[in-house]
Amino acid sequence: AGEQEIERLLTKAAFDQVELNPKIREANRKLFGRDMSAAELVRQIVRDVRNEGDKAVIHYTELIDRVRFTPEDFLVTEEEFQAAKDEADPDVVASLQKAAENVRRYHQEQKPKSWMTYRDAGSILGQAIIPLDRVGIYVPGGTAAYPSSVIMNAMPAVVAGVREIIMMVPPKNGKINPYVLVAARAAGIKKIYKIGGAQAIAAMAFGTETIPRVDKITGPGNIFVTLAKKEVYGHVDIDMLAGPSEILILADKTADPVYTAADMLSQAEHDPLASSIVITDDAGLAERVAKELEKQLADLPRREIAQASLDRNGLIVIAEDMRQALHFANVSAPEHMELLTEQPFQLLPYVRHAGAVFLGAYSPEPLGDYFAGPNHVLPTGGTARYYSVLNVETFMKRTSIISYTQPALSDVSSDIIRLAETEGLQAHANAIRLRRK
Ligand code: NAD
Repeated sequence: AGEQEIERLLTKAAFDQVELNPKIREANRKLFGRDMSAAELVRQIVRDVRNEGDKAVIHYTELIDRVRFTPEDFLVTEEEFQAAKDEADPDVVASLQKAAENVRRYHQEQKPKSWMTYRDAGSILGQAIIPLDRVGIYVPGGTAAYPSSVIMNAMPAVVAGVREIIMMVPPKNGKINPYVLVAARAAGIKKIYKIGGAQAIAAMAFGTETIPRVDKITGPGNIFVTLAKKEVYGHVDIDMLAGPSEILILADKTADPVYTAADMLSQAEHDPLASSIVITDDAGLAERVAKELEKQLADLPRREIAQASLDRNGLIVIAEDMRQALHFANVSAPEHMELLTEQPFQLLPYVRHAGAVFLGAYSPEPLGDYFAGPNHVLPTGGTARYYSVLNVETFMKRTSIISYTQPALSDVSSDIIRLAETEGLQAHANAIRLRRK
């Protein structure tokens, strides 16, 4: 394929891929009594939860998740926490604790500082950094459980100093995965609600009789969750719109095809919509990776998902040289980028768009997913062009600080009066003029 065609394949926007598959759409038609796109359905759910509060949350949880709650049962109780602790394998809990500590330490480094500087004639300027009051974390849980996502969302908020963190997790047969609860408790989250999908996002955005309204919602989820975040944005802040997971591997002739294929599959097994791409300047490697993919796929428990993902969004691109390979990689702006090359640090300065970069043969993507410390909530679908990885500042805001003395204000008063009068704002000019001696 030519360069343009390759660029087109690499920039298939995630949101173009997310229209509901016909089976789900038909099931939803029966469930909701009329044919709706995912966006229409989400708009309806958000509107109903906004207008009717708990009643609508109960209605949709029963309809979609097939669990009947009262407003009192949404909240995970102390007994449920205790049962989760008893049920959890202590080795897994220990690994979760180690991961949480690595994530906490990494994010501690990110913490920005408030500052003030002295300027002319005793004036002071500065910037205060203030943590958000209350944030809501969405932890997905429809098809799999993600205790690691609890840690990745909660730790930066904890480090930022957010006053209250609440969490939403979809109930599976009315229950929540014990490790998700253990991880939440370890992060100090007290209020966890057994609510999923668009109804969870709407409840956090607008508040209900029993669920407090938050200032910001973070966390990944399926298409219903993501569209709901888009819908409520502006009423609350959101972290980003995260679509299906992606990996892009830049590989030269020194890359190990076994590792390369394994890393592609580590994304492909997430989701039929996930994407796994290799870009190499070596045709021989491309062939070896393709063969290895078939071999490793055969033994995967989630083979069907991985195969569907590779069929749909799997690509092995042979570039003319590493320069062109890097160009393609930046055009794609992937969530995860691996540099499986002889001198990965030499390529790093040329990486302009990626959620996270993994350098060398011993930094595979799952290391970042679970354990190293950097966050795994990352921009997808090419949005790494403008979104950053979830971080401590996601949970903070900046306030400007301005303090002038009388002489400092007098020094600059004629400029301000001139500018105010140019804009026709006499009261602005007066506020300055009256203070002039
Ligand atoms: P989810 O929690 O996102 O969604 C489950 C909820 O969706 C349910 O509670 C239900 O209310 C709603 N829902 C399901 N089917 C529906 C339908 N037909 N109509 C209306 N609402 C419906 O869990 P999931 O489905 O397992 O999706 C999780 C997603 O999150 C996956 O795509 C996964 O790859 C992604 N993920 C991303 C990261 C990351 O860091 N980027 C981490 C973990 C998971």
